[in-house]
Amino acid sequence: MIIMKKDAKPKEIQHVIDEVKKYGLRADVSRGQFRTVIGLVGDELKIPFAHLAALPGVKEARMVETPYKLINREYNDLSAEGESYTIKVGNVEIGDGEPVFIAGPCAVETRQQLMETAEQAREAGAHILRGGVFKPRTSVHSFQGLGSAGRDEAEEALGWLREAGRQFNMPVLTEVRGENQVDLVAEYVDILQIGSRNMYDQDLLGAVARKDKPVLFKRHFGASIEEFLCFAEYIAAEGNKDIILCERGIVPVGKGKSFTRYTLDLAAVPVVQRETYLPIIVDPSHATGRRDLISSMSLAAVAAGASGLMIETHHNPEEALVDAQQMVTPAELKDIIDACRRISRETTASR
Ligand code: PEP
Ligand code: MN
Repeated sequence: MIIMKKDAKPKEIQHVIDEVKKYGLRADVSRGQFRTVIGLVGDELKIPFAHLAALPGVKEARMVETPYKLINREYNDLSAEGESYTIKVGNVEIGDGEPVFIAGPCAVETRQQLMETAEQAREAGAHILRGGVFKPRTSVHSFQGLGSAGRDEAEEALGWLREAGRQFNMPVLTEVRGENQVDLVAEYVDILQIGSRNMYDQDLLGAVARKDKPVLFKRHFGASIEEFLCFAEYIAAEGNKDIILCERGIVPVGKGKSFTRYTLDLAAVPVVQRETYLPIIVDPSHATGRRDLISSMSLAAVAAGASGLMIETHHNPEEALVDAQQMVTPAELKDIIDACRRISRETTASR
């Protein structure tokens, strides 16, 4: 990290960038209101920090100790002078203090299913519409999402998402499961989701990041918080800082039939907030796998400081093709959102 002096000239900043490039690294330039901070992307062992520190206009050049640097809170606080970081998508702001609610079915099934769910979720207070078109499934024999049937089917389902989003005034998001889906999906949706199973896929992360759209980045169920942040850094390293982190549960202790699908790691919320400036939301649906636990886990997540929630919602969960057992109805969603707003107002002041 290279911190420029407050009165550093553009020429001096450019000179530092050129020097960084000479060593085979990329420069991530972050211009704050009062000063510029330059992050280095690449093999930092190649960098003679003493040489960079001596360049005109440079105040300080030093190593950031964590393996994730660009998303490090310190890096942002220095460049943005402590401003909070918000991600804007359409008319929604994520990370500004008010929790954001993402709702919609696990999978897009039919146009009618999506339209009804979208309309009712919007009325319940949701801001963003979700719906899987390419589903990651454990069994190859299960419904894989409409997108897996072929390009025409994928475009049709993505078209419904876009239509529902426009009609009910909600940005939309869907998961991108493979690199060959990135271009197509980015044409239709506002936010690209990287699913839990793909958290480690560096090539997919790079391809998605380069679309310059916000990325909803889910933690792998076996990943430590540190790994989670290290892989988020791959997205930031492409120049895309609009990363919404999502805690969705980690592998539970014990074998056999357990009470919950995963174990919701709520401590990850304040930990991540201390480590990075990126917003983190919580997905209580995949974390628990149980409709009867969504409300309590949502309230707990908001109390812990989450910037939002992603709650699987279906206008008629009984007939859902995927994750029927964990989807809430729009009426249940409304109660959850109302209660979360109350909790958020009460806890923001005391946190
Ligand atoms: C999803 O959000 O649709 C999903 C499959 O979740 P996860 O990747 O967390 O399992
Ligand atoms: Mn699901």
